[in-house]
Amino acid sequence: SINNNCFPCSNDTMSLSNLSNNSIIDAQKGDPLAFGSYWKQMSDECTVVIKGWELMSYYSDSSNMCWFMLPELRDEIERLHHLVGNAVTKDKYIVVGNGSSQLFQAALFAVSPSDVSDHPINVVVTAPYYSEYKNAINVLHSRMFRWAGDATLYDENKPYIEVVTSPNNPDGTLRVPMVNSLAEGKLIHDLAYYWPQYTPINYEAGHDIMLFTFSKCTGHAGSRIGWAIVKDIAVAKKMATFVQSSTMGVSKESQTRAAKIIAVICDGYQNFKSNESELFFEYSKRLMRERWEKFRGAIEQSMVFNVTKYPRAHCNFTNEISETYPSFAWLKCEEGIENSHHCLRKLNICGREGERFGVDSKYVRISMLGIDDEFNEMVKRLSNAKKE
Ligand code: PMP
Repeated sequence: SINNNCFPCSNDTMSLSNLSNNSIIDAQKGDPLAFGSYWKQMSDECTVVIKGWELMSYYSDSSNMCWFMLPELRDEIERLHHLVGNAVTKDKYIVVGNGSSQLFQAALFAVSPSDVSDHPINVVVTAPYYSEYKNAINVLHSRMFRWAGDATLYDENKPYIEVVTSPNNPDGTLRVPMVNSLAEGKLIHDLAYYWPQYTPINYEAGHDIMLFTFSKCTGHAGSRIGWAIVKDIAVAKKMATFVQSSTMGVSKESQTRAAKIIAVICDGYQNFKSNESELFFEYSKRLMRERWEKFRGAIEQSMVFNVTKYPRAHCNFTNEISETYPSFAWLKCEEGIENSHHCLRKLNICGREGERFGVDSKYVRISMLGIDDEFNEMVKRLSNAKKE
């Protein structure tokens, strides 16, 4: 999510090897760079070579309703969900998109009533909600759907679409549908963070429309690969039509790379030998746990902010009981402080304001997925913060 409200952060060409106290740490964006050192170690295994004459056609698989999806990507996505146990793929349809951002719009298009002579259907999400949903809807000025804010406040007796983000961005909580209305509601589940490094995998999700993204699973946001797992073929077809009409498919270079990297993860688990390098979800979960432990220590020491506590649960994938380690920290300032964002700015840390997520300025979101140097410097500054 690239949003440059926070002016000095956005274009600041901070030298990371030279982080001084007055350089600004941009923790407002969700760029998932933290797993880069793992992929550096796996560099050779993940290399993809594409020759000049290859991948020239628009088409990938004319036997599939999602004709622009490479069969090898579909196979690896299914293999990954089977390995992790986080989503059912059997008897479901997969649609690939340019990030899950495109599939979010595709899903809205697919489940909105096609008769646009009526009022646009309301789209609601429980606050605090991922800030980009509102932007993605408002930018289109669609006659099919409109942003209608917080799901818990929805009191219209009219059909609606509810987006359920679980674990949630920004606050990492596990979510269920919240609208309390007799009107007909359609659900879109955004499961971008339902991976073992962020949260225990405690059920195999089988919702009607589930969105996943390569960006948060492995950290390869730049490839712009997302996928939807859809129960109803008519909905899946409409989503594929949306991707066709907006971008005529999805880059085959990106799909090839995503398929390769997912295959490397799955092969690692399949051929596991105990003396070999760490497996991806073991590595990424350990990294998240270590970061969260350091981070909580710093927050407790400073007594300026509070951070959400998460319940422990059994993870069916790792077979251990563990906590949730969200990719963002959702901070609330202590009594007597009004604006968390300003408070962080005094430490030269730039977070994203609570207002952008539909709540007040006591809250701020900061990324836990920056590169090591940035994260460590952020923790150091937070531990030195003092209430004025
Ligand atoms: N959903 C959620 C909850 C997210 O946090 C993000 C990325 N910040 C996305 C969707 C979009 O991901 P993508 O890179 O696949 O477009």
